[in-house]
Amino acid sequence: MIIAENLRRIQTRIQQASGTRHVALLAVSKTKPITSILHAIEAGQRAFGENYVQEGVEKIRYFQDKNASLVWHFIGALQSNKTRLVAEYFDWCQTLDREKIAIRLNEQRPAHCPPLNVLIQINISDEKSKAGIKPAEMLAFAQALQKMPRLCLRGLMALPAPMRTPQQQRAIFQQMHQLFQQLQRHIPNGKIDTLSMGMTDDMVEAIESGSTMVRVGTAIFGTRS
Ligand SMILES: *Cc1c(COP(=O)(O)O)cnc(C)c1O
Repeated sequence: MIIAENLRRIQTRIQQASGTRHVALLAVSKTKPITSILHAIEAGQRAFGENYVQEGVEKIRYFQDKNASLVWHFIGALQSNKTRLVAEYFDWCQTLDREKIAIRLNEQRPAHCPPLNVLIQINISDEKSKAGIKPAEMLAFAQALQKMPRLCLRGLMALPAPMRTPQQQRAIFQQMHQLFQQLQRHIPNGKIDTLSMGMTDDMVEAIESGSTMVRVGTAIFGTRS
């Protein structure tokens, strides 16, 4: 099966780039059918990322009674009218960048679920059109999240603009790693263990710069239409 082969190849690349450090692989299954996810599960993959709330919820519901013990990450843009579904169905939200959204997720996370794991999205390339907060706003936002018991802050996420050279790409990832270390120092008793950065085209640079989780779609499931 091609998906199983792809997963094996990516795991090898991750190991080569990370050495002994553990780097998690999030399989980004947006727009891909249930059958593709099934092939990945058969190959041992457990963590999946989805960008669109409705599509993600449908997939989560499909696997809910299959006892597959999957972990679902929401990685898309989140509007306030969709927060309830994310709070009720997902295990992680990686794209938190507004207090208003955080307050809603905290209120809407069901009592029978563990706290929702969240990452603060950083607009590290400082693009006007991009989601994410400015690096200078990170500590204040993290402080506000500490007061929300139904959320568990786990770290940072970034989706940097593509750069012309791998060196430039690395420099951006290294800035993210410094922010991540700053956050860990600031919240020493927290569970800040996740720096989510790196995708199909830049995962090696991201891992070599300290990423702890890469989000890979195309290299696993093929191109999206
Ligand atoms: C689509 C997407 C990915 C995966 O991108 P590929 O280039 O297909 O690996 C990763 N992260 C986010 C936030 C995405 O939207």
